[in-house]
Amino acid sequence: MASEPKIYIAGHNGMVGSAILRTLKAQGHTRFALKPRAELDLTDQRAVIEFFETERPDQVYLAAARVGGIHANSTFPAEFIYSNLMVQANVIHAAFTHGVKKLLFLGSSCIYPKLAAQPMTEDALLTGPLEPTNEPYAVAKIAGIKLCESYNRQYGTDYRSVMPTNLYGPGDNYHPENSHVVPAMLRRFHEAKLANTPVVAVWGTGTPRREFLYVDDMAAASVHVMQLPQDTWQSCTSPMQALLNVGYGSDVSIAELARTVADVVGYQGKIEFDTTRPDGAPRKLIDSARLHAQGWRPKVALSQGLALAYADFVSKQPAAV
Ligand code: GDP
Repeated sequence: MASEPKIYIAGHNGMVGSAILRTLKAQGHTRFALKPRAELDLTDQRAVIEFFETERPDQVYLAAARVGGIHANSTFPAEFIYSNLMVQANVIHAAFTHGVKKLLFLGSSCIYPKLAAQPMTEDALLTGPLEPTNEPYAVAKIAGIKLCESYNRQYGTDYRSVMPTNLYGPGDNYHPENSHVVPAMLRRFHEAKLANTPVVAVWGTGTPRREFLYVDDMAAASVHVMQLPQDTWQSCTSPMQALLNVGYGSDVSIAELARTVADVVGYQGKIEFDTTRPDGAPRKLIDSARLHAQGWRPKVALSQGLALAYADFVSKQPAAV
């Protein structure tokens, strides 16, 4: 098929990038430019330029990022801001200099102010101070959005940004300390079940509220947004605010999440709250009405998605466990 675009997914081995690849393959796409991290360091500008020279992609999904949970963000702030700024600047600039017209940048709902009105609309961007635990990461992601908008305004490119809420699913990072809350809980409750531990500690007070989206829903939304006609995209965003939220539509408290994860895993002990650990933002529910108006809806409910994520986690454990 001569007209089929060649698609580069930066981060195709990560949780989101691999889901985007699955979604595009399921749509029948066959032309991809893919390079694993070991072969292409996206913080290396020269290597990125060489890659674009060789591969000449038509479209780019920028899903490569240094990500982590509340503890990782507090522990490695320099890495989070440096890596993300470099990857974004290198990929977006190389895309522009190599004639890529369409690019989708994946941000994060932590770009919004800590105390933004809930649910947070796209207009909340840059209206107040950020949550301190992930400010360096959020500043990098805001810079990514502004890179896309600036290239569009100065050079007429069609670079779009989507802001996912908290994502989870197959391919997640299950590190006990550095991961996000869902994979951390899946691991902790699973290990407690196997060891018959009577009490499991959950970080913080249990009162923060978070919205969770299954990664295949995010991948479908990403492809949907990339494929919207340009006039449709422009009618639901603005040149200075070229982003769309991608959320599930409702949130749960961390205490409710813990009970749901315990049910999914089959852990029957008690749950206690370790208030020496930080809560982070009190609530992070985004308003996805603008994307919903363009015909995308999530399909996977939280308990269903958690069961799928847990199956993925178990499948990756050593056989003896
Ligand atoms: P955040 O959405 O940027 O705050 O990122 P996280 O996914 O790391 O944390 C979400 C919420 O879950 C915070 O209030 C955490 O304190 C809480 N939480 C409870 N237990 C855990 C855990 O074991 N790991 C992590 N990362 N967060 C936890």
